[in-house]
Amino acid sequence: MHEYLRRILLAQANGIFIEPGYSNLTICHDNNCSIHKGQDCDCDPWLIVEAEKEVFCIGKNGEKTLHPSKGFTLKKTTIQ
Ligand SMILES: [Zn+2]
Repeated sequence: MHEYLRRILLAQANGIFIEPGYSNLTICHDNNCSIHKGQDCDCDPWLIVEAEKEVFCIGKNGEKTLHPSKGFTLKKTTIQ
């Protein structure tokens, strides 16, 4: 399973809803993530949720974390 998907499922189990149409989810993968080779995500991705009233990230355990301060670029997947 993709690491980012695992975190999204954990977040939903924690009661954090990421609803299409209401929230914009941006996923930023590390340079060495296997997703760049067409395989499952295995990096420590940034999951940035831009909801109507707040912006936050989803951490390793599906918890809300603060917006990242470390730089990211790379491949972005946006679900709308
Ligand atoms: Zn990844």
